[in-house]
Amino acid sequence: MKHKITLIPGDGIGPEVVEAARRCIEATGVKIDWEEALAGQDAMDKFGDLLPAETLESIKRNKVCLKGPISTPIGTGFRSVNVAIRHALDLYACLRPAKSYVGVKSYYKDIDLVVVRENSEDLYAGIEFEEGKPETKELTVQIEKFSKKKIRPDSGISIKPISKFATERIARFAFEYAKNFGRRKVTVVTKANIMKFTDGLFLATVREVAKKYEGRIAFEEALVDNMAMQLVQKPHNYDLLLLPNLYGDILSDLCAGLAGGLGIAPGANIGDGLAVFEAVHGSAPKYKGLNKVNPTAMILSGVLMLRYLNEEEAAAKLENAVRKVIAEGKSVTYDLKADPKDPSAVGTREMASAIILHL
Ligand code: NAD
Repeated sequence: MKHKITLIPGDGIGPEVVEAARRCIEATGVKIDWEEALAGQDAMDKFGDLLPAETLESIKRNKVCLKGPISTPIGTGFRSVNVAIRHALDLYACLRPAKSYVGVKSYYKDIDLVVVRENSEDLYAGIEFEEGKPETKELTVQIEKFSKKKIRPDSGISIKPISKFATERIARFAFEYAKNFGRRKVTVVTKANIMKFTDGLFLATVREVAKKYEGRIAFEEALVDNMAMQLVQKPHNYDLLLLPNLYGDILSDLCAGLAGGLGIAPGANIGDGLAVFEAVHGSAPKYKGLNKVNPTAMILSGVLMLRYLNEEEAAAKLENAVRKVIAEGKSVTYDLKADPKDPSAVGTREMASAIILHL
């Protein structure tokens, strides 16, 4: 079967790591017809739009996209093309596995965690009121009236909406993922003891969904502050973490750090029938065009994509080839060498070629 997939090269180091991933994915033998689409600065230069309708249409049509990182221009008023894509396509589940590979520098061994982060609401909803604005003052008066609490007059306000609807669908996603990919336990992480009507609602809703999986997938609850410490002290006690947007953002970076950092951290943003696969790292503009950075995170995002496409054999083959190249430690980029100045470090393209040789 041939898959049609939207390919967004992105900017900065994006085009280099995306090209490396494309070559590795093709070398597995899976047939793919790539449809290239633009977003970010390239799209701005060509169409006068950071996120052209054609690009969103392409993803909707093909249902699957492999995407390079895109810089967020500072001072344009546009928040982030990456966030805009997730919102426009309602990609409500952010999936970030954090896994150890022998040969990657880390304080920990055998990390195997999956973070499932709600992607559509919470403090990321972008509902904010600036300090000093008339609407902020008006809102403050209303909030003080209803809550009987004082807000300092020189405050800015960010709103944290959490709904039953969005929580239920992310909880279902997490448990279904656990069931389909053999994870043994789901830990829901909130601050429900303090934010009773938002985190409390998230927790209560997840509990209801968890009941349907009783006896099949273990379920436990944790508070986010304690979880940060537990992950640093006993990361092997955990398996799949399910979190609202903000905590998910923070703890997924922590988990990436446990496994060895941004260079190897893949990710996916998934909605109903649509999915965009991308590395956790950004566009690292200072390395642009130098053929220097690590393509692993993008290639492992390709592995997640192959699994999503039910190409399990190709996914396992590619992940194994990545594992072997990193374990050998020869044909790897500077960041995977014991000494980052090691002259034997290879470039992005060469590391991809070594992975292809192992396929
Ligand atoms: P970044 O991830 O781009 O880079 C931070 C540092 O991490 C780099 O300087 C580099 O030392 C290291 N690094 C990142 N990727 C690497 C790789 N593949 N191999 C080796 N080292 C790597 O983060 P930043 O500097 O905060 O962001 C740069 C731009 O990327 C910003 O405009 C930001 O908005 C954007 N960004 C985009 C995404 C996305 O597209 N999803 C995600 C994060 C940041």
